[in-house]
Amino acid sequence: MKFSWKNLLLWSLPILVISFFIWQGFFAPTTNETNNNIANSRMTYGRFLEYLDMGWVKKVDIYDNGHTAIIEAIGPELGNRVQKIRVELPASAPELITKLKKNNIDLDAHPTKNNTAIWNLVGNIFFPLLLITSLAFLFRRSNSTTGGPGQAMSFGKSKALFQIEAKTGIVFDDVAGIDEAKEEFEEIVTFLKKPEYFTAVGAKIPKGVLLIGPPGTGKTLLAKAIAGEANVPFFSISGSEFVEMFVGVGASRVRDLFKKAKENAPCIVFIDEIDAVGRQRGTGIGGGNDEREQTLNQLLTEMDGFEGNTGIIVIAATNRADILDSALLRPGRFDRQVNVDIPDFKGRLAILSVHAKNKKINPNVSLSIIARRTPGFSGADLANLLNEAAILTARQRKTEITLQEIDKAIDRIIAGMEGTALIDSKSKRLIAYHEIGHAIVGTLLKDHENVQKVTLIPRGQARGLTWFTPSEDQSLISRSQIKARIMGALGGRAAEEIVFGDSEITTGASNDLQQVTSMARQMVTRFGMSNIGPLSLENADSNPFLGRGMGSSGEYSDEIAIKIDKQIQDIVQECHKKTIEIIKNNRVIIDKLVDILIEKETIDGQEFRNIIKQYTNIPQKS
Ligand code: ADP
Ligand code: MG
Ligand code: ZN
Repeated sequence: MKFSWKNLLLWSLPILVISFFIWQGFFAPTTNETNNNIANSRMTYGRFLEYLDMGWVKKVDIYDNGHTAIIEAIGPELGNRVQKIRVELPASAPELITKLKKNNIDLDAHPTKNNTAIWNLVGNIFFPLLLITSLAFLFRRSNSTTGGPGQAMSFGKSKALFQIEAKTGIVFDDVAGIDEAKEEFEEIVTFLKKPEYFTAVGAKIPKGVLLIGPPGTGKTLLAKAIAGEANVPFFSISGSEFVEMFVGVGASRVRDLFKKAKENAPCIVFIDEIDAVGRQRGTGIGGGNDEREQTLNQLLTEMDGFEGNTGIIVIAATNRADILDSALLRPGRFDRQVNVDIPDFKGRLAILSVHAKNKKINPNVSLSIIARRTPGFSGADLANLLNEAAILTARQRKTEITLQEIDKAIDRIIAGMEGTALIDSKSKRLIAYHEIGHAIVGTLLKDHENVQKVTLIPRGQARGLTWFTPSEDQSLISRSQIKARIMGALGGRAAEEIVFGDSEITTGASNDLQQVTSMARQMVTRFGMSNIGPLSLENADSNPFLGRGMGSSGEYSDEIAIKIDKQIQDIVQECHKKTIEIIKNNRVIIDKLVDILIEKETIDGQEFRNIIKQYTNIPQKS
């Protein structure tokens, strides 16, 4: 393309607009600093105050002349990991500083360092400079290629688009406990290493593999291990990063990603959280999302565009395969699906062994005891658990991790940070009765799990806690087991009623009652365990686009709805009656246990049972 005035005019208009835009948006001094501090999650100011009150906030950095804060907090909703969260502060929040000081929270204000004068100066020089250089650049470019104005508009190119790791350094031995998924992936490594084995017999190498599983089960790890084992580069991007302000950015990122990948084949392209872009199109309340759909369409186009044998394997991860657009799952796209589940006992043991390798653990600690105590833990939870235990050990200047630190770490991960026990008071007594109520009902019911410990030391939001030894096989639960759980959960409230009287019962049982109601409801509507008969009337979580509980009604008549409510009520009332009975019949033991609990603040399960045995028989657990 030759230089001409017509061309100059054509070019300068969009450039002016872009430069102005960049100037306003990306280099304005007020947003500059906070942009550096990438805190993706956000929290409302109100929630932040609640976090402050709970003592979950560790550090507060204030930016933008007090308009924004980046906080470091830990809490059960944050997976009990310290996370950076952005909070928009209201225009005037004078009480905040006092509050932060009072709670002794690490506070740092970051004033707008660069005063406006300097920025104006920089702007005065920078703006024309940018204009001139970009003009020069564009002319060079348009001379050498045939691109039109569209090329100049690729905003996406101005930022880091995706992560590239030439070598992930992760091998299959780092991944444990998910053997079926691993097997599937070993084959893919062979595809990447020796494609000719497959092409020789006319086999098409799969293009895409979808990893499905809950967070922290090792999906990212597994994808990296494939790249590591096959010794190929690893390109990754997260679906949530596609959610951008401008339409078209996501699509252009996808295009760039695949362009780079093709240049570097063989390689792995990893798309994390693909559900963020890959939701079923044309659904959702509030209409579709153009940006997301464009991104998704681009992704589909790219995947169709390269031949199966180019050596690119796209691995995507999600925890919600049910909401993915069916187009994604069609042959030639993500036609292989691999489930990665929360590990079972054997899996947990294997994962613990992997993560115990580089830690100094006392030889008396048996990993299988830890594995036994942690049903429901994901791989990430287990890694976190050993790390927490190591931190606790170091804090006490010990040289080896013992079972004591591990126990503490497990408790913290399950129930949140430990608080300090109340001083003796009426409410401490009430909480003691409440907890002993749970514990004794649980102990005296044949179908209930054993008590592991009872404590008055608060954790997270709970003021006292009764821990039960989890049973391993949680997949099949009998009707009498559910009923026992309902009664156990009602034990706290029942003890309050009997000991303190109807007018003194407290809000402390609200969480228990929620569980009770949900268990009873599921007995009736999902498990066919009521007089209505073996009918499935509600799904666990049928409509992902609606909140829980919404949208699941209407599958049965109003008549049935009334029956359901009645059945739930009957179940709970019957259980409540039996629970009250147990409390009444064991009042002497309960009083005794409460005194001990108030004095010692924690009673261990075996000790608890030994005390009860002096008064009554404990049924053999089934
Ligand atoms: P996901 O991507 O499924 O959310 P990640 O792969 O990011 O989970 O896992 C986070 C971390 O948890 C890993 O870096 C690893 O330390 C640990 N982890 C998770 N699953 C496993 C596993 N199966 N074996 C070993 N470590 C694991
Ligand atoms: Mg991940
Ligand atoms: Zn309770």
